[in-house]
Amino acid sequence: MSEILNIVNEHNKYRSRTLNLQASENVLSPDAREALSSDMASRYSLLMNGEDSYGGTRFTLELVDLTEKLAARVFRSKFAEVRPTGGHIASQTVILSTMKKKENMLSIQEKFGGYTGYQKEYLPKMFGIQNYDIPFNPSTQEIILDNLEKVVKSSKPSLMILGQSIFVRHYDLKPVREICDRHGCVLAYDGSHVMGLIGGNAFQKDVLQYCDILFGSTHKTFFGPQGGVILSNDEDIMERVRRNLTWRTMDNYHPSRLAALGVAMEEMLKYGETYARSVTENSKNLAMELSKNGIKPEYEPWYSETHQVIISETTMKKLGLDLVGFSKILEKNGIIVDREGRIGTAEISRMGYSKMDIIAELISRAVKGEDVSREVEELTGNLKISYWGE
Ligand SMILES: *Cc1c(COP(=O)(O)O)cnc(C)c1O
Repeated sequence: MSEILNIVNEHNKYRSRTLNLQASENVLSPDAREALSSDMASRYSLLMNGEDSYGGTRFTLELVDLTEKLAARVFRSKFAEVRPTGGHIASQTVILSTMKKKENMLSIQEKFGGYTGYQKEYLPKMFGIQNYDIPFNPSTQEIILDNLEKVVKSSKPSLMILGQSIFVRHYDLKPVREICDRHGCVLAYDGSHVMGLIGGNAFQKDVLQYCDILFGSTHKTFFGPQGGVILSNDEDIMERVRRNLTWRTMDNYHPSRLAALGVAMEEMLKYGETYARSVTENSKNLAMELSKNGIKPEYEPWYSETHQVIISETTMKKLGLDLVGFSKILEKNGIIVDREGRIGTAEISRMGYSKMDIIAELISRAVKGEDVSREVEELTGNLKISYWGE
């Protein structure tokens, strides 16, 4: 057997036996996986003005058209662009479509959970723009509106990007929209982490009522393949987005990825609301149960409105660990979390699991040095993707 395939099989076996609580990850349904590994994985398609530069694309064209329509239905938007191959590519396209060189943008600082890509040495440097910080209160996770207007007045940004990678609370969008209107600024929402919750109507339901653009990853809370999506009700912005995709931010869009995304969109339409509600309920319950077990998450008493439960470095220090140590000790026990203090409930919710008392207890015992790996294996052995009666 191929050595590489051997590694892949070992990986599959390994991850099927672990309890996956990584906030940036999810799991594909067998249908989506089938689409992802289909013949489309090695085919070319390049769309320009509704025409394909390649032959043999009869079905790929049908696929793009239907997946766009499904995405627009899921996110209740007029237009959808499903070709970006990642959330980062989607954000590049949005910046390119709304800003010129030397202009200013606004985003949330990395130390408050903002996306690293918007910090000055990354996308702003690449595009020759300046990034300024959105005034933000970390303890309440709210935008400081009075200060925001001052920053907007002085920096005159052409684009404001909301959204975070450490993301637990919705924004009060109406006043932010009013500030943007008063100063002629495009308002975008990077929903990378929460696209599945928005699609399932469990978080920031008003996003496209107030924001010009919603974009993000398709594989975090949204249970599609790794990729990106851009949504808007604004035809003009969407025209520019479409023009800026091909040969600027990307070339081909990986048709098999798009097929898997289309399958995930169909699934989201069928049971996305049940899924998303279960994700947010599980987070709140997990946070409460962890707290009972002596691991106190941030933002008590509301804890989280998303799939993320946040553990601070300070809390970990009290337990004699840092965040990397926390992740490593859990990993030894077959429980996977990232090394930034986020515990994610998206994947276990997709598995229809809701016994957060059991998960909290396993985490807490592992942190105290107990070996819970057998119990974790037993638990994960019984997990299967849930279709909620569909
Ligand atoms: C993960 C993330 C991205 C990047 O998404 P990819 O799909 O990994 O390219 C962009 N923005 C935010 C806020 C993220 O959390």
